[in-house]
Amino acid sequence: MSNVFYRAVNKEYLEVDYGEGIYLYDTAGNKYIDACAGAAVANLGHAHPGVLAAMAEQARKVAFSHLSRWTSKPIQELADLVAALAPASLNKLYLVSGGSEATEAALKMARGYFVERDGQSAKYRIISRWKSFHGNTIGSLSMTGDKRRKQYTPLLLNFPHIAPAYCYRCPFGKCQETCQVDCALDLERAVKMEGAESVAAFIAEPVGGAACGAIVPHKDYFKIIRQICDHYDILLIDDEVMAGFGRTGSMFSIADWGVVPDMICAAKGMSAGYSPLGAVIARQEIYDAFKQGSGVFVHGHTYGGNPLSAAVALAVVKALVADNIAENSRTIGDYLLAQMQAKLLPFAFVGDVRGKGLLLGVEIVRDKKTKEPFPVAMGMAEKLAVALLRQGVIVYPGTGNADGENGDQFLLAPPLIITKEQADELIAAMVAGFREFEKNIGQ
Ligand code: PLP
Repeated sequence: MSNVFYRAVNKEYLEVDYGEGIYLYDTAGNKYIDACAGAAVANLGHAHPGVLAAMAEQARKVAFSHLSRWTSKPIQELADLVAALAPASLNKLYLVSGGSEATEAALKMARGYFVERDGQSAKYRIISRWKSFHGNTIGSLSMTGDKRRKQYTPLLLNFPHIAPAYCYRCPFGKCQETCQVDCALDLERAVKMEGAESVAAFIAEPVGGAACGAIVPHKDYFKIIRQICDHYDILLIDDEVMAGFGRTGSMFSIADWGVVPDMICAAKGMSAGYSPLGAVIARQEIYDAFKQGSGVFVHGHTYGGNPLSAAVALAVVKALVADNIAENSRTIGDYLLAQMQAKLLPFAFVGDVRGKGLLLGVEIVRDKKTKEPFPVAMGMAEKLAVALLRQGVIVYPGTGNADGENGDQFLLAPPLIITKEQADELIAAMVAGFREFEKNIGQ
């Protein structure tokens, strides 16, 4: 027994040996399709030669210098490249080390912006949604809306949450024909209840990830959200930690709703698992408020903006652009979604198959007609993940929401370099795993 304090202390873990493209190999010599890219991270697949070369070159030069004194060519080039790819006017990159640090930074930046802009401000609350995940630090967990909050509730900030854009189980009892996008209008209700003078920002994932299995909001959702934010002088924080950098078929997912946010949080796919990195991409006006105000954004993390991670991210983003990876994500994503709808949806326990680009999800239910979920205690999402593992497929399971009432699902989010042939291999293995799972339901 080793002395590692694992996240799930009673679970058996696979021991990874090496990775190549979309595959991972364990130390016993077994091969797996990394069908969730870790946690929607390894977007370029494993052992990408260009990224490895850039990493080695930068490590030989200098791996670390602290942002309190030093800048570096890699962070400057990375900031310029990301600014060129981000929606117009989002052109300032604040670097941190991961997704939770990015959303935490956005929380403070939103608050700080109003203080800097107005001299004094009562605006500090961040509104978010149920069935969302924004990170595990106390600030980011306060914005998160799922079961991960449960044990820590007394420690969390008192931030309001609104209804999710969850069409499969519409919180307003509507269907496609009767939908009036009440889930977006719910933001206005919450703003009025809290008082707009106390609300600094609204944060949302464009396509929901870890807490909900790839729910995609209505086509008008973010336009309505943007209008409400503008009307009440509230910043829109777009959490693209999972969806960004090509995952949903565009460099930044929210662009597909025709909306420009005030900040984008990024991490995961930006350095594609080769080195920890996160960022807030902020509007020029936000940067200017700090520049013309106190001159400092008081929020630093030791590893934020280290040259090694920046050089890695620069190589990753250049490869994403050069190889038109977002386009592959869209094309193969559409193909995989169609295949999953044709081959997985017919299973009696499959309630919904959904997603965008290569951020796909499957929700499983006890009763397809009534959408009755499996009891959370049965741990069906994990059981299904284990059945898929036996077929050499690794997915990202999630069970239950904030009140533990429903939502067995898993995310399918393979590296964005996946080919059509590999997608076929993945579908065949999933069908075999689903058959095995079906035989054992109830045992
Ligand atoms: N935000 C979103 C949308 C995420 O999906 C995640 C992680 O899954 C985070 C934030 C937190 O990122 P990290 O795990 O790097 O702290």
